[in-house]
Amino acid sequence: MNIDELREQIPDEASCRKLFEKLIWPDGRICPHCRCLRSYRLNGLTSRAGLYECARCKRQFTVTTRTPMHSTKLPLWKWLLAIYYILNSSKGISSVFLGRLIGVKQSTAWKMGHAIRLMMQHWSDELPMLSGTIEMDEKFIGGKPRYHYGIRHKGGKATAKQSILVTIQRKGPVIPVPLDTVKTDTIAPIINAVADKSADLMTDKSYVFHRSGKQFASHQSVYHMAKEYARGDVHINTAESFNAMLERAKTGVFHYMSPKHLGRYLSELSFRWANRDPKEVITKMGKKKTIWKPKPLLEQLTSLLPFACGSQLRWQRTGAVRQIALNNFC
Ligand SMILES: [Zn+2]
Repeated sequence: MNIDELREQIPDEASCRKLFEKLIWPDGRICPHCRCLRSYRLNGLTSRAGLYECARCKRQFTVTTRTPMHSTKLPLWKWLLAIYYILNSSKGISSVFLGRLIGVKQSTAWKMGHAIRLMMQHWSDELPMLSGTIEMDEKFIGGKPRYHYGIRHKGGKATAKQSILVTIQRKGPVIPVPLDTVKTDTIAPIINAVADKSADLMTDKSYVFHRSGKQFASHQSVYHMAKEYARGDVHINTAESFNAMLERAKTGVFHYMSPKHLGRYLSELSFRWANRDPKEVITKMGKKKTIWKPKPLLEQLTSLLPFACGSQLRWQRTGAVRQIALNNFC
């Protein structure tokens, strides 16, 4: 869907609100405070658009209540436009550029971007355990080790750079998790949480996978130090492909991903990775090739917005942003 088609299908704020209500409440309107299914629309002269009152707890709410868009002063149309640009970009979009495109300040666009990523995080938190053939790899965020004022910074596991454990199911979703340290003991609980033990595991020769690998149906590895990158069907090239996308997003778009917000950036990349469809094409040399295209916008919105409820992002007095989990219902 291009921008003209979007404007044609959702021409005004009322139709945009209707779309959000349909997607955030796919099974009918639900009170975000107490999960009650009965509520009434408030139509008074002083009531703002889309305001409802719960029949049980008597609290008022709109479609954005208790979502990352909570208490927004922006029209929902701008939110839809921001989601449109983020979902249509191949590696993400910077807050400076997003702000220019939708006509808001950079700081507002930054928070909007993170609110949309937070919804993606809610979506990725609900992903089932990965199964089938799984690839695992560690990734360090940042470029190659360089000389800096005469000091050569260390590479690999000796680096001080932020590390990530990437677990990916072939032709399936990916779950990237930020790590404090790359050690057998620290990654074991993460592996237990994300991967089904009936899966066939593929890794490189890193020692951190030795112990956890024994719990899987099979564990095979490729030896990168000996320039072995694939041995028949044994490889971690899918994980390397995701790592390359992450590196390009960091280098080309975001430039810096702070450890505090890294989880949300990773959720965006994970959502984008899962919301693609394979397409068979014939190359100029006559060979068959599979390319991955993003799913249609409405399909992606249908995946994303039902996960909107769950937590909020709030500005603090210090100017920082705090993520608040909302699991308490009255
Ligand atoms: Zn209620």
